[in-house]
Parts: sequence; C-alpha cells; structure tokens
Amino acid sequence: MAEQRHTLAEMARLLESGAISSRELTEASLARIEARDSELNAFITVTAETALAAADRADQQRAKGNAGPLTGIPIAQKDIFCTAGVATTCASRMLENFVSPYDATVVERLNAAGLISVGKTNMDEFAMGSSNETSYFGAVKNPWDPARSPGGSSGGSAAAVAAGLVPMATGTDTGGSVRQPAALCGITGFKPSYGRVSRYGMIAFASSLDQAGVLALTAEDAALITQLIAGFDERDSTCSDQPVPDYMAALASSVAGKKIGVPTEYFDGLDDNCAQAMHAAFDVYRQLGAEIIDVHLPNLPLAVPTYYVVSPAEASSNLSRFDGIRFGYRADGAEDIESLYKQTRSVGFGDEVKRRIMTGTYVLSAGYYDAYYLKAQKVRQLISNDMARCFEQVDIIAGPTTPTPAFRLGEKVDDPVQMYLNDIYTVSANLAGLPGISVPCGLVDGLPVGLQLIGPHFAEAAVLNFAHQYQLHSDWHKLLPGGTN
Ligand code: GLN
Repeated sequence: MAEQRHTLAEMARLLESGAISSRELTEASLARIEARDSELNAFITVTAETALAAADRADQQRAKGNAGPLTGIPIAQKDIFCTAGVATTCASRMLENFVSPYDATVVERLNAAGLISVGKTNMDEFAMGSSNETSYFGAVKNPWDPARSPGGSSGGSAAAVAAGLVPMATGTDTGGSVRQPAALCGITGFKPSYGRVSRYGMIAFASSLDQAGVLALTAEDAALITQLIAGFDERDSTCSDQPVPDYMAALASSVAGKKIGVPTEYFDGLDDNCAQAMHAAFDVYRQLGAEIIDVHLPNLPLAVPTYYVVSPAEASSNLSRFDGIRFGYRADGAEDIESLYKQTRSVGFGDEVKRRIMTGTYVLSAGYYDAYYLKAQKVRQLISNDMARCFEQVDIIAGPTTPTPAFRLGEKVDDPVQMYLNDIYTVSANLAGLPGISVPCGLVDGLPVGLQLIGPHFAEAAVLNFAHQYQLHSDWHKLLPGGTN
C-alpha cells in the first residue's frame, strides 16, 4: 500500500520552498519502485543512474534560479515512446533490444521542462489490449488487488501512479488505453483531441486513432503536463497548429449553468453499482449548478465493431515495418527473404498482435474491403455525427469509463470478444477524435470506477475544468489502493 502520494503540483511546491530536493524525490521514487515493482511489474526498464544524475543537475539549476515549476520531478514514460539511448520495447519481443536514436516529441518536451524519467512502463504489446496481459514482459498487477488487471494498454503507467511510484506517467490512447487503466487503478487519465499532441516518436498502432495522454493523480496535474506536451510539431503532419490555451487558468471556471449530457444508451446493461456511482457523480455536478440532460448516441452499439475493423486495418499496415530487416528482432537460420519474414514475425509477435494483423489484412483485402473497411469508415462518420449532435445541446458528455471495475487476470484473456467489449465506453472518443478524461468517482466491491467526460474537438480546457471542479468537491481521487485516505 502506498504510504503517501504527492501530486505534481504538491511536489512542485515542495521543491520551490526548498523543503525537498530533486535528489530526494528521485531517490524516494526509485526506492518505491525497488520495494513494489517485483510484485506490480509496472516497469520494463528502470533508469536509476541517469535519473539521479538528472536530479543533481535539476537541483543545481534550481539553486541558480533557472528551474521551471516542474524541474526535477520524477515521472515515467510508457514504453511506446522512443527514448534516445534507452530501450523502447513496446512490450514486444520484436523490439526487446531496440534502442531509438531519437526522443519522441512528448519525451523531448517533458525533458525540456526538467521532468526526470525514472524508466519505461509496461504495457500491452504494441498497445493492443485492455488488460495488460499481452505484454511480452508479463502482466502488470493492479495495486488495488494483485489478482486483478490494472487495465490496458497503459497499465504499467496507471499502476505506477496509483501505487505512488511516480506522480505521473505518459500513456497512449488508441481506443481507451489511457482512460480505462486510469479508471481501473483509481487515478486520473486524460486523452487530448486527436492532433493536439504530436505522435512523432510514438510507435504507431492505428495512426488515425492514436493519441498521447497523461496518467496522473488529478486533473490539475493532467493540465500541467498537457500544457507542456500539446502544440504544433512539424514532424507530425496530423499535429494541429491551433494555439494551445492556458489550461491551468481554465481549471477555476465555475460549471454553474453548464450542460452535461448523459447518453441514455450508456446505461443499457451497465452494472447496477457502477450506474449508482455515476448517478452520485452527476449529483455533485447538480450541486455545483450544472444541468444534467439526457442525450442519445444511437450508434453506440456499433462503436466496438467499428473500432475493431479500423484499428486492426491500420495496425496491419503500420506493423509491416517489423520484418526482421529494419527494426528489432531477426530470426536466425532463414534460407530466403520470405522465410526470414515469416520466422521473424512468427516468433517476434505475440498472439494478440498476430490476431490484429490477420484481421486487419483480411478487412483490407480486395474481396472484403467494401464489406468491412469501407463500411466501418462510414459508420465511424455516423458515430462522429452522433457526438457532434450531442454537443449542439450540451457542453460535455458524461458517463462511465468502463462497464465494470477491474476484472481478474486470466478472466478474459482467452475470449477476445469479451475483452474487446471492455472498450464500449472509450472507443467512440477515438473514432471521433475527441478529448476525454477519466476521474475516480467511487468504489464498487472495494475497487475503483471512473467517471468519463468527453468534450468537443479541442475543448481540452473544458474537459479539464469539469474534471477539476469535480475533484474539488469529491475525495475519490485521494483514496489509496486498499481504500484508505
Ligand atoms: N483496448 C483497445 C485495443 O486493444 C485500445 C488499446 C489502446 O487504446 N491502445 O485496441
């Protein structure tokens, strides 16, 4: 159990006042990793030496008066972000020994702000999964109950933050991989709009859906980090050049008079206890003067099937680069190029990745393209239109992040369809490119559940504002794994 967790904002204040040094914070983070991670398996790589050296540099900078507010705070990077000189495995055997020659833009920007990476977090292989069980490096354990999944695919980042190993870790969200593990580990997970954060150096899964995000203890911390990573990058042609607003300034706005839309379809078949937790959260917003309004997402039942056509299609194309020639693992003893490809990919990829490549290749094949891929793209537009229609009526959409609290490791891993259905509440935001956040809003059977808020395109400030206002008036985000405050 975490004895104490500090938010980024708290750590920044402690550093500023001189109450603690970056060296001490970094040593404490490394000590907690040492104490807890053999059980949790949240990290694939720990970079203790470089982190301590960076901490000493941060302390010197601060002494000279040239530190930024977050300089010297230890964090972690999901192992899908390229880090120069440190292995980037994507939790795959294929990239087990891959060292990128450059930093991802997200990594570069966090480094530039003085944040210190203590290591790379475990994840589902190539971010494909909802339980963190597809990692080549083994499943991550949920700090609330080690027999349960932390959620996926950014499960290592979520577990590391929930257990107080680091105050914040990066994640990526293609169909829910920031929001879902945040919900299941009782922390805050924020996915900005598609195009808000550069994807440069973030290993591609499904390029029209992938977006970098933040796993942290509070919406305020998510705002602090989003402020740093958002914004134009010429190295990603899909990265928007819209100016980045002041997210911190937006947090304080009142939500009185604002309209929150709750899709009635969200409650079809939702676990009763989860539904109760959602209604309690809506009551908090009512007390703050917001209005709760029924809205409709008629195509919601099509979201999971659509996502599981579009994302494997893109994955099959993106992962064709892992052929044994250009990146990572290469099978020994192949006789010709064809067998080199086959053997490398047979051994280098795990079962779920192979399933996605096969599905993706199938839906893109000449005979089935119209029936599956093209159809899915049309339905994707319908889903996007449904969301846009809601935003004509309301400021934000609210509902659950997941259908249930954390499930047991092993419970769904042999049934891909059951596993995919976990994503019912999260994939629409990716299909439509919208920003979404999950904040802790209750316990069900002693396990955390998340409230999801989804906003219009590029309304990050509004999403963070709604989440922050809720956290000012609730204590769920302060609960430590084990349920103590
Ligand atoms: N669970 C979804 C999938 O397996 C989403 C993963 C993600 O967002 N990276 O595709």
